[in-house]
Order: sequence, then C-alpha cells, then structure tokens
Amino acid sequence: MAEFDYDLFVIGGGSGGVRAARRAAQLGKRVAVAEEYRYGGTCVIRGCVPKKLFVYASQFHEAFEDAVGYGWTVGETRFDWPTLMAAKDKEIGRLAGLYETNIGKAGGEAIHSRAVIEGPHTIRLTDQDRTVTAERIVIATGGRPNRHPAMPGAEHCLTSEEAFHLERLPESIAILGGGYIAVEFANIFHGLGVDTTLVYRGQEILQGFDDDLRHELHQQMEAKGLRVRCCDTFEAVEERPDGKRLAFCKSGEHIVADEIMLAIGRNPNTENLGCEAAGVELDARGAIIVDDYSRTNVENIYALGDVTHRVQLTPVAIHEAMCLIDTVYLGKPTKPDYETIATAVFSQPEIGTVGLSEAEACKRFENVEIYRTAFRPMKNTLSGREGKMLMKLVVDGDSRRVLGAHVLGHDAGELAQVLGVAVKAGVTKDDFDATMAVHPTASEELVTMYEPSYRLKNGERL
Ligand code: NDP
Repeated sequence: MAEFDYDLFVIGGGSGGVRAARRAAQLGKRVAVAEEYRYGGTCVIRGCVPKKLFVYASQFHEAFEDAVGYGWTVGETRFDWPTLMAAKDKEIGRLAGLYETNIGKAGGEAIHSRAVIEGPHTIRLTDQDRTVTAERIVIATGGRPNRHPAMPGAEHCLTSEEAFHLERLPESIAILGGGYIAVEFANIFHGLGVDTTLVYRGQEILQGFDDDLRHELHQQMEAKGLRVRCCDTFEAVEERPDGKRLAFCKSGEHIVADEIMLAIGRNPNTENLGCEAAGVELDARGAIIVDDYSRTNVENIYALGDVTHRVQLTPVAIHEAMCLIDTVYLGKPTKPDYETIATAVFSQPEIGTVGLSEAEACKRFENVEIYRTAFRPMKNTLSGREGKMLMKLVVDGDSRRVLGAHVLGHDAGELAQVLGVAVKAGVTKDDFDATMAVHPTASEELVTMYEPSYRLKNGERL
C-alpha cells in the first residue's frame, strides 16, 4: 500500500495549480486538486477573462461612432448591463467547467472543498470533514484584492471582485489606483458610459511602464473625457443618505460617485491556510517564500502563482507550474525565467510591451538609442477619431540588441506577443531593419524607423 493517499496534492484550482496537477497526472502521478470556490481561479472567474469580455463590450461605443465615417448609418444604440453580465456569467461557467473536467481527463481528481494544511504531508478538507495525505503539496491559492482596511469607510468601496457582479451599472464611479486594474476598469466603465474618475497617488499612471506610453495614454484618456487625477489619494469614504459615496481626497477635494472602487494591488491568500502548522515561512506581506525552484522551506511543499507574490500574471503562474513538474518529476531542475516578460494593459488605447523601458535601459546600458514614432493610424482617418498610435524601440547602442519594444494603440496586446518572441530571442535593430514591412499595417512602422529619434549616453540625451 502506498505511504500517502496522493503523490501530489494541489491547493487552489487556478491557472497555476490546475496546470501543475494536469501535468503531474499525465505523468501517471496520483494527483488531487482542492478548490473552495470555482475552478479557474482569478484569471477565469474574476480577472483576465471577464475583464477582457468587459473590454470588448466597452469598445462598441467608439466602433458605432467610427462607423459613420465609413458610410454607415448606425441606428439608436442602447447598452444593457444585465445582458452583458448574463452572457459573461455563462461563458465563465463554461470555462470553469472545462478547467474542472480537464483535471479528470488528465487522470487527476478535482475536489470541491477548502483545504487546510495540518502538517507537512497532511491536508484537511474542511467541507468534507476528512483528512488526506500527500507526498508533495503545491500551494497555489492565488491572491485577493487589497481592501485597504486602514482607510475609514473602506467597507463602502468595491474591488474588482464586486465589479464583476454589480447588479446595475453605476452612473458614476471613482477608482483609486494607477496600476493594471485601475486603468483597465477606468476605461471599461468610461466606454460603457459611466462618468469615471481615476485617482492615483503617484506622478503618472502605470508606474514601471515606459514613460512615453504612460503620458500618451493619460492624455488620450483625458481627451475622451475620463478624469485622471494624479498625486492624490482617498483618505476616507462615506456612504451618503442617498446611497452615493463621498470620497475625501488628500488634496482636500471631495468626489461624489455612485461607486468607489479600490484597485490598489492584491494580497496573497495565505490566511488560515495552515502554513504555520506545516512550518511554511511567509514574508511580511503574507506571501509564501520560495526558492528559485518554487520550493518552500519545507522540503516537500511548493508554492507557485500569485500566492508567492513574484510576478502576478497568469502565464507566469503556468510557467512556474511547468518548471515545477520538470524539476520534481522529470529530473530536469528548471528555474522559472522572469526575463523579458511581454505584457499588455487592456486600456483604451491598449498597451503592449516587452523588455526594458527607456528609463530602465538607461540605468543598465551606457549607450541607448531610441526609435520612436507617433502617428494617426489609418483606421482613425475616415472615422475622424483623434488619438495617436505610439511605437518605440529601445536599443543598446553598442550591441544593437533591442532591449524593449513598446506599443500604444489598436491591438497592442496582440503585437506584444509577437514582439515578445523576437526580443526574447535577442533580436537586433538590424534584424528589424532587414525585415520587410507588411503593408498597409500600423505595425509596419516598427520596421521602418531607420534613424534613431534620439540617443542617450549614461542617461543623458545627446
Ligand atoms: P498594481 O500593482 O498593478 O497597481 C497597484 C496600484 O495601486 C499602483 O498604482 C499603486 O501605486 C497603487 N497603490 C498601492 N497601494 C496603495 C495605497 N495604499 N493607496 C493608494 N494607492 C495605492 O495592482 P493591481 O491591483 O492593478 O493589479 C494586481 C496585479 O494583477 C498586477 O500587478 C498585475 O500583475 C495583475 N494584472 C494584470 C493584468 C494584465 O496582465 N493585463 C490585468 C490586471 C491585473 P504605486 O504605483 O505608487 O505603487
């Protein structure tokens, strides 16, 4: 008889956990996953997927306007939030089902229960009132929005989780934060006709992204009528007798809105997970500490995805899971590779980016060349829509290697994926120059920027 009930027990049925479970099961391991809510995790249930569906919904408004310039007469249009919500819920239900059945198809077991670690090899399934044992445990419990408990009145605010389940579309909303979620939701709500204000404590939204894209996106959002207020934050929120929310800003200003949303980062889900019982160490913010191979300080317990607070992105969690299986079961110790991760912000216009920003490149390289173009995309000509597309290559002036590629505009996220392959492979500016343009496209600009827009030496513009 086997010493343990399972070879591998995964806690958390999100992207990372399910990938680890399926891969291990496909290798013939006895695997189970416990998920307390719905299979699919943040990405599928209350993150990337429903967000992207909302983004699509919010873009029709502009599409109807643009159609006129192309000769269409668009009749009366009306948006119905409950219809969108129902369609979204149906799709999410389908995907959650697929996530769950795929575990079984791979030969694993999907369990519906909260799981609490009781010891290095012991897990309690609280909803089923039973205990199981496993040779190895993977913690992939993800994260949840920071609800800002220190702020008076935080209980009157939404986070992204509630935003996906609002019964009615608010007429007005104020969103706190300047990261992915705040910026994406600000654009979604604005696109759906909601009077939207974004309040961010820093100088410019989307810290860490290339400054040109940050400024241009900010300007284009404001040009559309979306208010973006930097260098400010909420100090308190009250609920008014009429049901509206009143946010007290640090600047002394007040904002009244139907809803206030907080998008100020996410915390790892480690509360009451039993990490202490097994001796698994957490960092100051509650994230599980792991080594380069996703192993915790307890030899047979691993952690991956958002619960480790490394890079909070779905493809990263999946990559960590693949590396873990290679390391543990295939005898190929593999460290996740965090260099040059392509990413997109589904703002409107979109951002697609890979590699170093200009500022980062200047910190690391002596000679930097910038190739930059800002132009009105052809799609915006007949429609008369304002708003430029921005493309930028950051190049090491010595080796000619492309260090970063940044795009703001239509389909920038799609472009980032392809640019990501090239930049990851170590593409040089000469390779870009030698590549024939695809005409007429917006992205042909990426291979026709022959002369640097400017050069920098030790960060100083020449
Ligand atoms: P981010 O870390 O991207 O942004 C958090 C924002 O909140 C920052 O602007 C930060 O400011 C601000 N902030 C933090 N604490 C406070 C505070 N106490 N008061 C006021 N402002 C504060 O987190 P998100 O919540 O936007 O998203 C979480 C993660 O989810 C992201 O890091 C990303 O990895 C992932 N994600 C990815 C998406 C994608 O790939 N398209 C989409 C959505 C989420 P400051 O900049 O000054 O620190």
